[in-house]
Amino acid sequence: KENMATDNLTAVLHGIEDLRLEQRPIPEIANDEVLLAMDSVGICGSDVHYLTAGRIGDFVVTKPMIIGHEAAGVVAKVGKCVKNLAVGDRVAIEPGVPCRRCDHCKQGKYNLCADMVFCATPPYDGNLTRFYKHAADFCYKLPDHVSMEEGALLEPLSVGVHACRRAEVGLGSKVLILGAGPIGLVTLLAAQAMGAAEILITDLVQHRLDVAKELGATHTLLLDREQSAEETVKRVLCTMSEAPDKAVDCCGAESSARLAIFATRSGGVVVIVGMGAPEIKLPLINALAREVDIRGVFRYCNDYPAALALVASGKVNVKRLVTHHFDITETAKAFETSRYGHGGAIKVMIHVQPRDANN
Ligand code: NAD
Ligand code: ZN
Repeated sequence: KENMATDNLTAVLHGIEDLRLEQRPIPEIANDEVLLAMDSVGICGSDVHYLTAGRIGDFVVTKPMIIGHEAAGVVAKVGKCVKNLAVGDRVAIEPGVPCRRCDHCKQGKYNLCADMVFCATPPYDGNLTRFYKHAADFCYKLPDHVSMEEGALLEPLSVGVHACRRAEVGLGSKVLILGAGPIGLVTLLAAQAMGAAEILITDLVQHRLDVAKELGATHTLLLDREQSAEETVKRVLCTMSEAPDKAVDCCGAESSARLAIFATRSGGVVVIVGMGAPEIKLPLINALAREVDIRGVFRYCNDYPAALALVASGKVNVKRLVTHHFDITETAKAFETSRYGHGGAIKVMIHVQPRDANN
């Protein structure tokens, strides 16, 4: 496009509460990489956390870092060895590129690779920038009818797909999802697509439950912080036709992980996606004596293709998650909206090129 920007305006996090827009050089690509003209970048809770706290666990922002990792762009240049993509292709970007050589990588569990290069996880740069380079084989070409925003949303959706795969959600599953933020909602969408018969989703905020209901949750439950754990378990069990065989924590609160264990039927699976305090107290004996498996989730692994297929086939509609749109020049306002949940914000999308320019 003639009017495509040629500058490289970039959102750089310099430290706590210090996010700046500045010009950066356009990256040079290696033979197996593509240069992408970025289009849409969603804001994730982790981006906000790096802005407000400068760290997540052991990942600490010690030098300026480009923010953003839920993204889609258009191929502007291809490296000599790239066979899967051509200039002009619209792609979703899987933001983590593993080493490909270690045991975890060879065994297909590349999300566990110790040498993962992951966008906007220190010390690596993210992709809220006009021009960004990425490994070509971690870019997924979007069919014409899948929008750039949907491409960006494949990132959180892949977390939901991975969580449901870890939980072994299948035909007839009865699923309890704790937390109706973006991750809880994509887990809901994935669970539906994977054949769940009944899904109860909880939150502390009614508006988020209303969205979950709109997306097809069979039951929603507004939790009351004042209520005892026993009462809360009882409310879950009374609302569902029987105890859930799968529970997925998508908020990270101790009370929530405990509720997940107590409510899950014997022999069921509890998956913890939420990342809260590094140590929490769990009823381990209750879980082991009833053979309730507790499993973790770290991002996703080989889940982008399924997430794309779900969106492309129309089985899953992720569009409802996007509540706000901003231009990259309004990055500060976009982060504020996401951070404080202004206007019922769920997913805030930043447009690096004019909205719908590439749809
Ligand atoms: P979010 O903060 O937007 O949503 C969390 C939701 O949970 C909110 O709606 C909140 O009201 C609700 N909530 C809080 N306490 C609750 C409770 N006790 N019971 C029920 N609901 C409660 O966050 P998000 O972006 O949806 O992410 C959810 C969690 O998943 C975060 O902890 C995030 O760090 C984590 N996460 C983990 C991975 C992973 O790879 N494991 C990937 C992405 C996100
Ligand atoms: Zn590796």
